[in-house]
Amino acid sequence: MVAVVTGASRGIGLSIAETLIKKGFSVILSARSITTLAEKLCTAYPDKAFFFAADISEKDDISALVSFAEEKFGSVDLLVNNAGVAPKERKDILEITPEDFDFVADINLKGTFFVTQKFVPLLTKNKSARIVNISSMSAYTASVNRGEYCISKAGISMITKLFAARLAEFGISVIEIRPGIIETDMTAKVKEKYEALIEQGITPIKRMGQPEDIAKCVAAIADGSFDFCTGTVIDCDGGFNIRCL
Ligand code: NAP
Repeated sequence: MVAVVTGASRGIGLSIAETLIKKGFSVILSARSITTLAEKLCTAYPDKAFFFAADISEKDDISALVSFAEEKFGSVDLLVNNAGVAPKERKDILEITPEDFDFVADINLKGTFFVTQKFVPLLTKNKSARIVNISSMSAYTASVNRGEYCISKAGISMITKLFAARLAEFGISVIEIRPGIIETDMTAKVKEKYEALIEQGITPIKRMGQPEDIAKCVAAIADGSFDFCTGTVIDCDGGFNIRCL
């Protein structure tokens, strides 16, 4: 079984890659650049872990990643669209510029769409391939100081539905995982703020999520536990999604 995980150099993606390798998958880890942690994983599993540098906002990089997967394995069983960025600076939606918007949308939204589209020929070579899109609770939660991120994640929800509808005839399922507050580099700058909110009860489960929490959901999908599901959303968020009265 072969998996491709984007944004696998650290955080959630790295944990997903490691979990899949331990389940016996061969994994292509991708990101713009390799980290020591990703290098360590590739050294520990030289026959299972392969790093390929690619920026998903660059169409030539996406093509190169697909070609690498094709030459190495011929087909792909599981694509995990995890690569994503937060805004460089949190700004009110009345202040953001088109450049701010494009930076996030080109990676999170357009990148995810075209990575998916370009991997379809390799996924359809298998009878029951799977795609997992890592969106966010921001897909439905309005944060007015990072609106472009919320829009990009809401877009991933629609990417999930579109490809789920389009690819079902090829036996390909598409599932969206919406992480809540996960302890990674992305949340490092706002960790104290989030910890305080959690303490005040913003999530019924009173802790930050860990990358492994998301990786376990991906592992269940990879196992086939969700095989009658497509276009489905998994909220992996400590219960943030519950409205309480
Ligand atoms: P992270 O630690 O910042 O890791 C992001 C990963 O994406 C890195 O491997 C990064 O590597 C890669 N990446 C960024 N821009 C890229 C590009 N243009 N092309 C290819 N790869 C790129 O973030 P994380 O917290 O693990 O987040 C992973 C995913 O979960 C993201 O989509 C994020 O939006 C989502 N998420 C996170 C949280 C959270 O609380 N942490 C919550 C909800 C959703 P390079 O920089 O080297 O490219």
